[in-house]
Amino acid sequence: MAFQQEIETKLQKGINVSTNEELYFALLDLVKEKAEGKVSNEGKKKLYYISAEFLIGKLLSNNLINLGMYDEVKETLAKYGKSLAEIEEIELEPSLGNGGLGRLAACFIDSIATLGLNGDGVGLNYHFGLFKQVFENNLQKETPNPWITEKSWLTKTDITYPVQFGGFSVQSRLYDIDVVGYNNRTTKLRLFDIESVDESIVGDTIDFDKEAITKNLTLFLYPDDSDDKGRLLRVYQQYFMVSNAARLILDEAVAKGSNLHDLADYATIQINDTHPSMVIPELIRLLQERGILMDEAIEIVSKVCAYTNHTILAEALEKWPIYFLDKAVPQLMPIIRELDNRIRGKVSDESTYIIKDGLVHMAHMDIHYGYSVNGVAYLHTEILKNTELHNFYVLYPEKFNNKTNGITFRRWLMSCNPELSALITELIGDGWKKDANELEKLGNFVNDDAVLDKLLAVKHQKKIELEEYLKEKQGIEIDTHSIIDIQIKRLHEYKRQQMNALYVIHKYFEIKAGKKPGRPITVLFGAKAAPAYTIAKDIIHLILCLQQVINNDPDVNKYLKVVMVENYNVTLAEKLIPACDISEQISLASKEASGTSNMKFMLNGAVTLGTKDGANVEIAELVGEDNIFTFGEDSQTVIDRYERGDYNSRSYYEADADLKKAVDFIVSDELMAVGSKENLERLYNELLNKDWFMTFPDFEAYVEAKEAIYKAFEDRKAWAKMMLVNISKAGFFSSDRTIDQYNKEIWKLN
Ligand SMILES: *Cc1c(COP(=O)(O)O)cnc(C)c1O
Repeated sequence: MAFQQEIETKLQKGINVSTNEELYFALLDLVKEKAEGKVSNEGKKKLYYISAEFLIGKLLSNNLINLGMYDEVKETLAKYGKSLAEIEEIELEPSLGNGGLGRLAACFIDSIATLGLNGDGVGLNYHFGLFKQVFENNLQKETPNPWITEKSWLTKTDITYPVQFGGFSVQSRLYDIDVVGYNNRTTKLRLFDIESVDESIVGDTIDFDKEAITKNLTLFLYPDDSDDKGRLLRVYQQYFMVSNAARLILDEAVAKGSNLHDLADYATIQINDTHPSMVIPELIRLLQERGILMDEAIEIVSKVCAYTNHTILAEALEKWPIYFLDKAVPQLMPIIRELDNRIRGKVSDESTYIIKDGLVHMAHMDIHYGYSVNGVAYLHTEILKNTELHNFYVLYPEKFNNKTNGITFRRWLMSCNPELSALITELIGDGWKKDANELEKLGNFVNDDAVLDKLLAVKHQKKIELEEYLKEKQGIEIDTHSIIDIQIKRLHEYKRQQMNALYVIHKYFEIKAGKKPGRPITVLFGAKAAPAYTIAKDIIHLILCLQQVINNDPDVNKYLKVVMVENYNVTLAEKLIPACDISEQISLASKEASGTSNMKFMLNGAVTLGTKDGANVEIAELVGEDNIFTFGEDSQTVIDRYERGDYNSRSYYEADADLKKAVDFIVSDELMAVGSKENLERLYNELLNKDWFMTFPDFEAYVEAKEAIYKAFEDRKAWAKMMLVNISKAGFFSSDRTIDQYNKEIWKLN
């Protein structure tokens, strides 16, 4: 049936007389029906990608693209004066993730569906997400971020399990979201909730009774862990997630004919970071309940579970106190002790033990009892093998492998940048939509002036769209003829937004002194800070204060503008990335495992300004040093300095007058006038006395690199060539490639 007839049957009236809201919910219904009508892979062996986060973004446009209906729907609606973009504004972005790890999981399930693999995502159905960020008095405030409406992408299922905690139990309920692959099959995102969840215990802030587990369990992602109650709640959440997942896995395997002894022929589990690690002891426990002896249960589980490491930050590798586990999940502790004892019996290297000093090291359990350990970019995996997890690598060299991250080109090009997609298709046909490596063919056009002009025109068009969007949604004005320089990612010291802010101060002084840039510069930030991460919030405060001072200074604001968008999320990323000229990827070398925004930017024709870290290293290799701006100390230099423990930020501050001037401005009268003394002084002191993520040693090189990239921007033709080379080399970063490698080298699904 033609789309118009289908949708009007649902609406019971014409498109022209329907509101955007009516159209959105009718489209939602229609897309859900179409997705259900698609077949999924029912192969024997199935992948379960368990993740605490799935940062999926809005689904309407993406599902329409993947169903092959996008153009028809858009055109039909337009015929009746309706805009698909405006209709999509009705949709609330799901609050199921918070950053790169969750966005990766979302790209992966898109690719799993597109490649037609038999695999589901499994996680939790958070009602309020991490938080919604609002700015007040130049400070971040956190409020709940609800997204579940009466009709939504969630489909309630009949699957429910009782989950036992120490002293009480809860009843679970499974909700599914269909994940539509591109012109292919579907798969599912399976989200567990509790039947007794109670949204009314949350008010206008994100404070709530952290001990009311039967009410609060699925309200928030990553509840504040600055106290024991919050940390304990995370343990309850994690166990709830994996206990449900484990039962689902066993039930589905048995339904397909498994006798459980052969579970590894029916199921493989990817443990995405350490949050789902308790699936290992939980599966062992459940197998024992079903009559399998401990020795064999351990052996089975060790053939089923694989672990992905996402970080080398020690504080991010979860270690739970035994007394937490004894309280929340007493049934698991004897199993974890047994797992630890077996390692103690055969491994002499105590650093690899699971239980040490009263703490359970989740990653250690994953590595000993998983069959695969992967890092997420070449450099990251090398650091794991040679440094961070070296002691494990010596024990199990065969388990370690690399899977460089990727992104889905459906969302991060076709959906967010149809103009660039159309230009690419005009030049090389549309084979790239199925095989991203075909983008290489764009290399034939690097000397074609007409093509380069078109590329610049698309970029300008996307800047105009961004300008309109930011004005309407956030009351922010940007200059579409300025250089758009963007740093969007979670706020963390290792990502070094503070270095970008120091550059902005440096530039402000230069302009004040009469050295004016030939073209205006817009430095754009977007970032949420964890509610209990004080210094991260102080950095946001600094950026917001700079925004106020600089944008209101008539000597400067014609040349330099600072913008911090509120509540950075997937929806905003989709507007910002296509409009970007300069992609800021300036982490402290060795600390950013991969990064994926670097890939999204490159695909949309931005040029990277970055350190030699994470996937930036692979980008540089692909595009060549002429098409990327790298700077700063390399990872080995940084690792060696940590090893020596002799870093002294003050000596850099004393030795570099420009740096000193920029740092001192943090506590200047100008900033104090718009900011808070406490926050600014704390940040200033932190940088001067600690600077644990070593901003200062790279500052001078960063300033030089920024000047070089701004200068390069002025040769428009040479810049457009760089843009084209970056797009043409982005194919490697398709998550279809990543998932194909996971499947061939880890999961081996049939
Ligand atoms: C891609 C993405 C990220 C990850 O960004 P990094 O720069 O790799 O840390 C985080 N948040 C959102 C909304 C994203 O789309």
